[in-house]
Amino acid sequence: MQEYGLFRPIDSQALGSGEKENRPIPEPGPNEVLLHMSCVGICGSDVSYLKRGAIGDFIVKAPMVLGHESSGVVAKCGSNVKNLKPGDRVAIEPGVPCRMCNFCKSGKYNLCPDVVFCATPPYDGSLCRYYKHAADFCFKLPDHVSLEEGAILEPLSVGVHACRRAGVTMGSNVLVLGAGPIGLVSLLTAKAMGASQICVTDIAENRLHVAKSMGADHTVLVKGGNLEALAEEIKKLMGDMPDVTIECSGAESSIHLGIVATKSGGVLVLVGLGPSEVKVPIVNAATREVDIRGIFRYVNCYPLALDMIASGKINVKPLITHRFKLEESIKAFETAATGSGGAIKVMISCE
Ligand code: NAD
Ligand code: ZN
Repeated sequence: MQEYGLFRPIDSQALGSGEKENRPIPEPGPNEVLLHMSCVGICGSDVSYLKRGAIGDFIVKAPMVLGHESSGVVAKCGSNVKNLKPGDRVAIEPGVPCRMCNFCKSGKYNLCPDVVFCATPPYDGSLCRYYKHAADFCFKLPDHVSLEEGAILEPLSVGVHACRRAGVTMGSNVLVLGAGPIGLVSLLTAKAMGASQICVTDIAENRLHVAKSMGADHTVLVKGGNLEALAEEIKKLMGDMPDVTIECSGAESSIHLGIVATKSGGVLVLVGLGPSEVKVPIVNAATREVDIRGIFRYVNCYPLALDMIASGKINVKPLITHRFKLEESIKAFETAATGSGGAIKVMISCE
């Protein structure tokens, strides 16, 4: 019971001012493992909790440890744990559901109302030296998959769930709106699932360069203006309207574009979470049978996400643009918040 810095970036009195704190090393329960943390990626939600103290109805009321895109090395196993042993390198799926409710039992555990999710208030995240977690929500990494890639499984799983909900398959024409980390992992996943053509939009030119380098067939810079004309431009580039659109910005105009650009009978998946109410041409979607589907995180997606990386079908390494040590967490959060230096995924090493 000693050592270790633990990062506690939220202070209810001083929002936005992170700080470190020492706490005792937790003791794993019978079905848990104690992990020596390795990598924690910074997500937009971590930045929001730090800077604004809330995302929608999730409000930070007490100091909270951030971080949920993470990987670690098993340090100790609870008495019932059979799937892991000390020394195993694992990716951590951060949401542990109740396993008892109808959502859990029907396999939609991402919708469990009692899920305990790292760094979603009131639960602490994993940006620390030692952290304990349910053993069955830890996924052993093959030797050739790095701990950084293990941490990236979290956003990648969002892309997997989005593409599954969208029904992306061999030959799909896919439009991805927004080229942040989530848009980019959706691009990678759609490509791995056999999409024929993928077009990516963004308002930032540098993000489109990254999308292109990661395999986008077409990119479109959104400068505002007429959305119908933009949809027409996308149709021209792709040779037809996309079967599937994955909206990854949350911007109202982008959701609007998602509706008018998608082929009749196609699917628009809403991944981006922007304003809680938006004005969109819903009758256009209704009368052209464009299905609008939401997604919430991911469900049973870690195994496929890991397989895509382990088999070499996708390369997530270009997403990681910045690396910091745990001691430099405040600087890491500033970099992620401002996107300075072309930051896409900022990774913190806890070793
Ligand atoms: P990000 O902010 O890094 O990326 C968003 C991108 O969209 C940026 O590159 C931005 O320039 C671009 N953009 C903004 N307005 C646009 C417009 N009008 N048209 C096209 N592009 C536009 O965020 P991220 O980490 O990539 O996450 C994307 C979204 O997904 C966020 O809203 C996040 O909250 C949401 N998200 C949802 C879930 C879920 O379970 N539904 C999970 C993870 C993230
Ligand atoms: Zn449940």
